[in-house]
Amino acid sequence: MSILVVGSVAFDSVTTPFGEADDVLGGSASYFSTSASFFTDVQLVAVIGEDFPQQHIDFLTSRNIDLSGLQTSPGKTFRWKGRYEYDLNEAHTLDTQLNVFESFKPQLPENFRDAEYVFLANIDPELQLDVLQQVRNPKFIACDTMNFWIDGKREELIRTLGKVDILIINEAEVRQLAEEPNLIKAAQIVRGFGPRTLVVKRGEYGILMFSEGSTFAAPAYPLDEVFDPTGAGDTFAGGFVGYLAATRNLDEANMRKATVFGTVMASFTVEKFSLDRLKELDHRDISDRYRKIKLLTDFADLDG
Ligand code: AMP
Repeated sequence: MSILVVGSVAFDSVTTPFGEADDVLGGSASYFSTSASFFTDVQLVAVIGEDFPQQHIDFLTSRNIDLSGLQTSPGKTFRWKGRYEYDLNEAHTLDTQLNVFESFKPQLPENFRDAEYVFLANIDPELQLDVLQQVRNPKFIACDTMNFWIDGKREELIRTLGKVDILIINEAEVRQLAEEPNLIKAAQIVRGFGPRTLVVKRGEYGILMFSEGSTFAAPAYPLDEVFDPTGAGDTFAGGFVGYLAATRNLDEANMRKATVFGTVMASFTVEKFSLDRLKELDHRDISDRYRKIKLLTDFADLDG
């Protein structure tokens, strides 16, 4: 089952304690769709400027991502500049240039409107809603966002959240969105905005998933070298939604498995800048790491 995604396709400039990269391929939709493409087909909706190189288009096409919803507009591609200190869990945004996204009016190709699985990657919540309104009969809608939109477009974001099944966001952003410091209470408040499930990304500490009557925790994959965390969240979402769409099963046990596939995918992204690690990945790498995470949390019963 293919997934429709709307989000940013970007040039990122990133500085970490271990190095820096300028104007490399980034964007929430790029990371999401590349990650999800290891599980299922992806249809991408976004906009790029005339400065976007063919080599990035060729890469996304090589991952079998349907780019018929990727518009090219006069002007510059979206740009994000960020910095990380030794605490790699927190990105400091230095600059955000929306550029062609400022006047973007998504127009879904006819065959995208039948999408059953939809992912609203991190982008202006008004664009997220606009895309959603063009989809005829979605079965599953997941969404991501960040502080930039919680600060700048709170009302629009809450309107979008009223229409989504699952929200996947960072721990600090759950607190900010709920205006509540306690994470458990904040999760309840955010679920009250619409999403029946909330997946909280906690960087190197893994994830917490809150659903009706159940809370699930999964660790991150322990890495001895984290190079650049940019895109980890979107890559997580790509593995998570990709696995759910591929298996067409939304029960609690399968959602738990999906969080581990998301975790595995994110653990690769952070090993190199941009999408460089995902570019060299194969299915065996993914299943090996999945097994290792399973062992990481395997322990005997008290009487066993
Ligand atoms: P994350 O997975 O949270 O690390 O997301 C990183 C990606 O988000 C980068 O590749 C950026 O290009 C993209 N990004 C940063 N700020 C925004 C924004 N305000 N809207 C959409 N995408 C953004």
